[in-house]
Amino acid sequence: MEHISQNIAEIQQRIANAAKKANRAANEITLVAVSKTIPAEYAAEAHRCGISNLGENKTAELISKKALLPSEIKWHMLGHLQTNKVRKIVGECGLIHSLDSLRLAEQINRVSLEKNVITECLVEINIGEEPQKFGISPKNTENFIQKVACFSNILIRGLMCVAPVSHFGESNRNFFAMMRKLFIDIQKNKLDNTTMDILSMGMSQDFETAIEEGSNCVRIGTALFGKREYV
Ligand SMILES: *Cc1c(COP(=O)(O)O)cnc(C)c1O
Repeated sequence: MEHISQNIAEIQQRIANAAKKANRAANEITLVAVSKTIPAEYAAEAHRCGISNLGENKTAELISKKALLPSEIKWHMLGHLQTNKVRKIVGECGLIHSLDSLRLAEQINRVSLEKNVITECLVEINIGEEPQKFGISPKNTENFIQKVACFSNILIRGLMCVAPVSHFGESNRNFFAMMRKLFIDIQKNKLDNTTMDILSMGMSQDFETAIEEGSNCVRIGTALFGKREYV
């Protein structure tokens, strides 16, 4: 488990360097440690090493890990959310990164109303317009947000993307730049009932490029916990 504290220190240094390169402050960038498939005791170790944001991509795994870990941790739901799982997750996580349809927004709003909570969400953008991926297409994003803004119990906080798979970050630079442009354009329009302040992009392979292009929330699994083993 020693590798975790070392990895965190290295990643924080790399975040700081990338922020500096872009003339930004390192402390404006949130590091979400992605603990999916990783045992809870490793996530607990990350928390002891200063991590306060953890991300998961499955509802059941988020709920079960949350129960084992300190309550001050902020949990991030990153994966595609089926409407029948919404009841489980609303009220349990601090931020849903993967709002990707109106139907899902309606269900989140309905359950949030019932539970009397405001659910904070990012809109997932299919920035590479890849047919196999979830997410709103860039050209429909503003219209989508306007519709969701009418829901009383959802607060849109920004945008998220999973950029096309790449083995070196540089190849996603254009996608990250497109995301930033979309983010800023929507921010400028000051839509009611939306707070466009989170731009969630960048993973283990490409987080430095993402930060240089404006990300203020990076989601890092492999580089922090090591390679995942799927069973
Ligand atoms: C798994 C996952 C990550 C972390 O990916 P790594 O390449 O392991 O850093 C980030 N975001 C989402 C949505 C994921 O599903």
